[in-house]
Parts: sequence; C-alpha cells; structure tokens
Amino acid sequence: MTSPQRIGVYPGSFDPITSGHTDIIVRGTRQLDRLVVAVALHTGKDPLFSHEERIAMVQAEVAALKGDLAAAVEVVGFDTLLIDLVRAQQARCILRGLRAVSDFEFEFQMAAMNARLAPEVETVFLMASERQQFISARFVKEIARLGGDVSSFVSPRVLARLRARFAR
Ligand code: ADP
Repeated sequence: MTSPQRIGVYPGSFDPITSGHTDIIVRGTRQLDRLVVAVALHTGKDPLFSHEERIAMVQAEVAALKGDLAAAVEVVGFDTLLIDLVRAQQARCILRGLRAVSDFEFEFQMAAMNARLAPEVETVFLMASERQQFISARFVKEIARLGGDVSSFVSPRVLARLRARFAR
C-alpha cells in the first residue's frame, strides 16, 4: 500500500522573492513530497512587481534549484481564500517561515484563523536560517530603491529585475 503524498502550500507575496524565501522552499521541499509555492495576487499593500512578474521570478528561482528539488515544486498564482487553494491542491499543511518575534503575532493569528476555517490543515513553521533571518522583501526594496547593494539578499536574476525597475 502506498502512503498518501505529503503536499504543502507555501503562500506569500514574494515581492520579490529573496534568498530567505528560497531557503524556506528548499528546506520545505525536503520535508514534503510536493510543495506548491503560492503567489498571492493581493498583498495588502501596493506591490512593486505585478502578479505575473512575481510568479515569473519565483518560477525562475525554482528552476535554478540544485539537484532534483525543482521537480517537487510547483508555482501557482492565487486570488482566492488560501484555504480553498490548500484544499484544491489536496495539501495537508501550510508552510510559513518565522524570522523574529515580530513575525510571531501575525503568523499566530493567521494560523489560528486558518485552523478554524480548515481544522484538517496544519500550519507548519520553519525557523529562518541564521544567515537569512534578517532578510525581508520590504527592506530589500527600500535599499534597492535608494541605490544600495542587495546582491547578498536576492539572486542575480532578481537583482537584475530590481535594477531595471529602479534604473534612472
Ligand atoms: P507576507 O507578504 O505574508 O509577509 P512574504 O511574501 O513576505 O509574506 O513571505 C512569505 C513567508 O515567507 C512568510 O511566512 C514569511 O515569514 C517568510 N519569510 C520571508 N522572508 C523570510 C526569511 N528571510 N527567512 C525565513 N522566512 C521568511
């Protein structure tokens, strides 16, 4: 008898995808049979990159993953309730990354709300890696906007997109 596939959904705005996000994708994939990276249309704020651009950037990072990791990852866009996507993907967990204590309250609330909406779905947290824990897409955008060097926070592909966006 084969056991059911362990499928997880990693949602976020990925505006843009940073090496912190990619680290969670790589580590999440090791724990799952299939990981669906879900790029939200609605970010709660004005995104720098369009939904299509954010999806394309995540796809490019996944395609560049080493070994056979990419085969276990699928990238989708969504504009629905997260739980509806999780169910449609037949996933059993939502994957999130936790950086500082400041992430905790929001993540705790979201996990609790989603647990009410879908008790069968577990939210699973991975602690940010030591080297990535201070990286946030918000600061990456702010530094890039002001002409600072963000090359150690994002891939060369994302760096090129940021440079093009902020070119004078
Ligand atoms: P949101 O827009 O919901 O804040 P993001 O798109 O920025 O989410 O990120 C999606 C998920 O990735 C969140 O769980 C966030 O905590 C996590 N994350 C973002 N940056 C990092 C990082 N440097 N290390 C680990 N997890 C991260």
